[in-house]
Amino acid sequence: MPSPGRGEGSTLTRKLFQSGGPLNFEDLGDDQFRASITLPRDEDGRLGRECPDEACSPGTFKVRPGTGITGGQTVAYCPYCRHEEAPEGFATKEQRRYAEELVMREAHRGVDGMIRDALDPDVFGRKKLGGGLISMEISLKSAPLPHVRPPAEEEVRRDVVCPSCGLDHTVFGLATWCPDCGLDIFLTHVAAELAVVRSMAGDIERRREALGRRVAARDLENCLEDAVSIFEAAMKALARRHLAAIGLAPEDIEGGVKRLGNTFQNIARTIEALRDHLGLTAATGVPWEELSASFEKRHPITHNLGVVDRKYLERTQASDREGREVGISPAEVNMTLDRVLVAVSAVHAGLFPHGGAVRGG
Ligand SMILES: [Zn+2]
Ligand SMILES: [Zn+2]
Repeated sequence: MPSPGRGEGSTLTRKLFQSGGPLNFEDLGDDQFRASITLPRDEDGRLGRECPDEACSPGTFKVRPGTGITGGQTVAYCPYCRHEEAPEGFATKEQRRYAEELVMREAHRGVDGMIRDALDPDVFGRKKLGGGLISMEISLKSAPLPHVRPPAEEEVRRDVVCPSCGLDHTVFGLATWCPDCGLDIFLTHVAAELAVVRSMAGDIERRREALGRRVAARDLENCLEDAVSIFEAAMKALARRHLAAIGLAPEDIEGGVKRLGNTFQNIARTIEALRDHLGLTAATGVPWEELSASFEKRHPITHNLGVVDRKYLERTQASDREGREVGISPAEVNMTLDRVLVAVSAVHAGLFPHGGAVRGG
C-alpha cells in the first residue's frame, strides 16, 4: 500500500458553503444552510411577483418594496385572483431560477474548494500522490463559474398606488385586489386606465399644431375607441367575477363571458345583458343615453374612416349631416371617460355591494 497522502481526512474539514460570502450563507447545522439572495429590481425599484396558482392569468405583477404594509406582513394577495400566500410565496419562476443558479454557482465554488483542500495541490494546481509503487499526478483546473442570467420581465404594465394601504404596485391588464391589504381596488385600476386616455386627449392641441388636423382627429377617434375598450374590459371583468361569485366552474365562467361576445361595446345590449345574465337592473344615475350616443360614433369611425353613413344617421338620428365627418371634441372624449367610470362604478356597486368583501372560501 502506498503511504496515504497528507490530504487524507481533510475533505470533511471544509463545508460546501462557507458562512458569509456573496449570498450571506448561514450554517444552520446538519448540512443545512440559509442563503440570503437580493432579487434584482427593475429600473423603477420594483420587484416582480407571480401568483402561485398556475391557472391565474396574467398572474404576474410587481410591487415597490417599502410601500404598503411594511414589516410583519404574513400574508399577501394575488391582485387578479386574490390567492392568499406568505409574501415570499409570490416569487416568480425567473427569480426562483436566478436564486437556484446563484446557489449552484456557490456550490460549484464550494466543491472546487473541497477538492483543492482534499488534494492539497501545489501552487501550480498539481498534486503528486504516493511515491512508491503507484505514483500519479493530478492536475486541477477550475472550470469558469457558470454565468447567471438576471430575471427578465415584460414591460407592458400599469402602475397604481392602493388608496387604502399605499402599496405602489404594477399589474398587467385589469386587476381587482391590492396585493398587500387584499381590498377591492378595481375602480382604481379602471380610473388609472381611463387617465391614460385622458392624457392622450389632453395632448390633442399640440398634436394638431405639430402634425395637422387629420392626425389630431384620428387621435380623438382612437381615444373614443379606447374609452369603449376600457368599458368593455371592465364589464367583462365584473361579469367574470360575478359568475365566479355565484359558484360557476371556471369553464362555465369562460363560456358565459364568451357568449356575451361584444355585447359591452353597445349600451342598449349592455343594459339587457346586465338584466338577463347578471341579474342587475340598470343603475339609475348613470348617463346611459349619453354614453350610448358617444359609443355609437365608433361605428362610422371604425368602419368608414370617420365619415357618417346613412345607417349611423338612422340609428342615432344624430344631427351630423350624411357625408360629413363625425364630430368628436376633446371635451366629449373627456366626458365619455367620466361617464365610463360612473357606469362601471354603478355596476360594480350593484354586483358587489360590499366592495372589498372577501370572495367566499
Ligand atoms: Zn392569482
Ligand atoms: Zn392596499
